[in-house]
Amino acid sequence: DKVYLNGSIVNSADAKVSVFDRGFIFGDGLYEVMVQINGRFFYEKEHLERLQSGLQKINIEFDVSLLKNEILTLLKVASLTDKDCMLYIQITRGVAPRQHSFPGDIKPTVMMYAVPKVLPEINTVNAHVITRNDFRWSRCDIKMTSLLGNVMLNEEAMQLECYETILNRDGVFTEASHSNLFFVKNGVVYTHPANEYILNGITRIVVIELCHSLGIEIKETPISLAELNTIDEAFLTGTSTQIAAIQQIDDYKLYTGNEKGPVTQRLQEAFLKLR
Ligand code: PLP
Repeated sequence: DKVYLNGSIVNSADAKVSVFDRGFIFGDGLYEVMVQINGRFFYEKEHLERLQSGLQKINIEFDVSLLKNEILTLLKVASLTDKDCMLYIQITRGVAPRQHSFPGDIKPTVMMYAVPKVLPEINTVNAHVITRNDFRWSRCDIKMTSLLGNVMLNEEAMQLECYETILNRDGVFTEASHSNLFFVKNGVVYTHPANEYILNGITRIVVIELCHSLGIEIKETPISLAELNTIDEAFLTGTSTQIAAIQQIDDYKLYTGNEKGPVTQRLQEAFLKLR
């Protein structure tokens, strides 16, 4: 397995990072995940722009456009050119003696790898999800590597053999442990606004655009816990998740068997056409 590390492509066993890397010590870094489908990265520009703007938010100086050629080289060496695959990019602040404040004169650590991944045309999962209190911090808009909150919340779903954990903060649904969350009520699609309580998913943005182009009313307004028993459909979005229908939320059954809501299905079919 090949890994890109600070300008070189090496075998993963030889990809070594200092234990004083601030990514290791503090989780002081960002990541990005995108998928190549039919020979091109799906919404590559948007993914790279989100990474660049995240770096600006946390004052890491790095020009993401420099990665474009490096990605092509990595894919070539990994024999994945034009193949369906997933690319992971991670940029940490770099290596420095441990101190909280940002060190001056530090070079970011840049790591990337790609693995084969074929996404189904439509995600056929009918997800059972659990609800939990969103105990993460208040800068969920930053796609940072310190994912302990997300990891702990996701693990609860796995232990209960569920697909995801959907989160609520101050009585309203925010997002899920590694995907965004949408509801449908009386034909209107609802999702939490893109503020500091959620990660503004690229798939989320694409689905909102799809609603506009299909003439489906979309409101970036949160749904409250108290409204749960009034919703008609719910679904999750994410780069690997694509659009996943939610069938059951805790004990509340929305659908049974292979049934899913008409709006969810319409969006899934329209989403597939974007490939
Ligand atoms: N929300 C969280 C917390 C995530 O970790 C992710 C993806 O990793 C998403 C939403 C979905 O984002 P995207 O559609 O860009 O993959």
